[in-house]
Amino acid sequence: MRRPLLAGNWKMNTSLTEGVDLVEALIEQLGAVTDHEIVVCPPFTVLGALAPLLAGTSVQLGAQNMFYAANGAYTGEISPLMLREIGCVYVILGHSERRQYFGEDDALINRKALAALEHGLRPIVCVGEVKAERDSGRAEEVVVQQLRGSLQNIKPEQMQNLVVAYEPVWAIGTGDTATPADAQSMHATIRHTLAELSDAATAQTIRIQYGGSVKADNVDELMAQPDIDGALVGGASLKASDFVRIVRFQ
Ligand code: PEP
Repeated sequence: MRRPLLAGNWKMNTSLTEGVDLVEALIEQLGAVTDHEIVVCPPFTVLGALAPLLAGTSVQLGAQNMFYAANGAYTGEISPLMLREIGCVYVILGHSERRQYFGEDDALINRKALAALEHGLRPIVCVGEVKAERDSGRAEEVVVQQLRGSLQNIKPEQMQNLVVAYEPVWAIGTGDTATPADAQSMHATIRHTLAELSDAATAQTIRIQYGGSVKADNVDELMAQPDIDGALVGGASLKASDFVRIVRFQ
């Protein structure tokens, strides 16, 4: 059985104080959750303040990006070792905003994913088509290509520490969401591709999250789909009560 993974991507939001307030409210409202895995991914500047607050709770820490080198002359970058040291368990890689605004491509995301796994971080690798690609019937082709490019050379035994997030770009931050049936169909394609990249048994262990305007009123239907194993939540993760409702999907 795949344990559902609900992750909040705070993006470039929250000051230090706001981040601490948000996580304190989250912990208080959440109580003990044992059947779902919960992760918050705040900005880098907030990670250090949250680590001690999250210790011993059911909420884990994740980062929104990293570079692939362990250290060196890479001004402005953050390494996997630094993320591990500060208490991160997960790292989001290849989010569509990184692809769109920072020119990240599958080859770079692949280097980052390999480095994350090598250093004991669990990468959440994001894939997803833009609107024109969906409208022209190319969504699956695009997503399969992104998977093949970003997950090259990952050993089958490392694959189980990997998470894939299917995030149709047209659904991110727009209020539009994929229908549960369309999302399920893409998730099944992703699992099939993961089986080709590893093997069928390994593919059954890999969590595939859906992301794109997940909210309290659509999470239950999405999570009821057999190949949807969690959600990557942007906007709705910035309000504790909304995120708690999502985490407690039925
Ligand atoms: C995201 O940023 O990964 C995301 C899915 O955002 P939102 O939930 O706001 O659409």
